[in-house]
Amino acid sequence: MDSEKVIKRDGEYVLHTYNRNPIVLEKGHGLRAAGPEGQQYLDFTSGIGVNSLGYCDLDWAEAVSEQAHKLQHTSNLYYTAPCGKLAKKLCKRTGMSKVFFGNSGAEANEGAIKAARKYSVDHYRKDRTTVITLVNSFHGRTIATLTATGQEVFHNYFGPFNEGFLYAPAGDIEALEELVDRTTCAVMLELIQGEGGVMALDPDYVQAVRKLCDEKDLVLIVDEVQTGVGRTGTFLCCEHYNLKPDVVTLAKGLGGGLPIGAVLMNEKVAEGMGPGTHGSTFGGNPVVCAGANVVVDRMDQSFLANVNERAVQLRAGIAKLPHVKSISGIGLMVGIEFYDLKAADVLAACREAGLLVLTAKTRLRLLPPLTLSEHDVDMALEILSDVLGKMEPTAPKEQA
Ligand SMILES: *Cc1c(COP(=O)(O)O)cnc(C)c1O
Repeated sequence: MDSEKVIKRDGEYVLHTYNRNPIVLEKGHGLRAAGPEGQQYLDFTSGIGVNSLGYCDLDWAEAVSEQAHKLQHTSNLYYTAPCGKLAKKLCKRTGMSKVFFGNSGAEANEGAIKAARKYSVDHYRKDRTTVITLVNSFHGRTIATLTATGQEVFHNYFGPFNEGFLYAPAGDIEALEELVDRTTCAVMLELIQGEGGVMALDPDYVQAVRKLCDEKDLVLIVDEVQTGVGRTGTFLCCEHYNLKPDVVTLAKGLGGGLPIGAVLMNEKVAEGMGPGTHGSTFGGNPVVCAGANVVVDRMDQSFLANVNERAVQLRAGIAKLPHVKSISGIGLMVGIEFYDLKAADVLAACREAGLLVLTAKTRLRLLPPLTLSEHDVDMALEILSDVLGKMEPTAPKEQA
């Protein structure tokens, strides 16, 4: 079926909740994706940080199809090996004690909020349930995680929203301290606000939050749905911050392209989550876990060294390009701020030139597969350089 027909049919039958790029992707290999008419794209989005190993990695595809031929699903009423295998690897890699598996980032964050509240209610009082999140955060699209998301634009239409969430401006420890009272149960944050514009938190602030949580026995939840699983050049972004959270959530990059969410907990939080407290029909699905096992196994030292080297190469190249004002993020989570261009216009021009990129707020955002080569980075920089070299200012020039 040609692109035009695919797009038309979608428009007729699929709910219009997405502003899709007007292109169809049909197959892919590594960093390359192809359209039905032979269009070629270099992909620096990895499906929003999901395809950590690129398109259709051979080991990954083999593990997934092998498991699909063996046993595709059992429910959590039975044991299957891939789920426990993955949980063990995640605990060994992160120092956490227990893992709960769900199917998405939002669901992982829901699980984290439940576990934090259970701990707080078990050890303190019934009304000690307030979760403090940060302004400009993003935690998901379910009602509770929308409420947790500290952006007013998300708090429309779908109310009533949940009680028990407060928002502190990122980087301001006094403001956070002021919000903490006898009802506070947890602090939840992204170390790099992804959807909020690829904004990394200040390390001193993060340490101060950890200290505050220790003093008040608040559960510190770190949402690593976007930053986790090698994206920033370490397995968890927490490692950059020398941070030990009580709960970590993972999702996007973990499954290598299949839906998975994981809530990693330390012993003290895990203790309260006994039989019946939480569940998911699909969670820990063996096919998905088989894929995730390949992803986690691949992330050895040399794999992460490549992530770091490519990040340095990419960032150095971008810094030399016209219109570029600043570069944010860590590792292969890259935000680009322009002096006088709208990120959406750059995205469209890149797509025309065969490079797929993302935006986050006013920034251009790159989340390439973590398997990218030196040559892939060169290619992307060449296209970006071409595109930016030809662009006329489309946004009023900001003061530098
Ligand atoms: C994408 C994202 C989510 C939501 O994940 P879904 O799988 O879309 O539910 C939550 N938190 C962060 C930090 C994210 O980047």
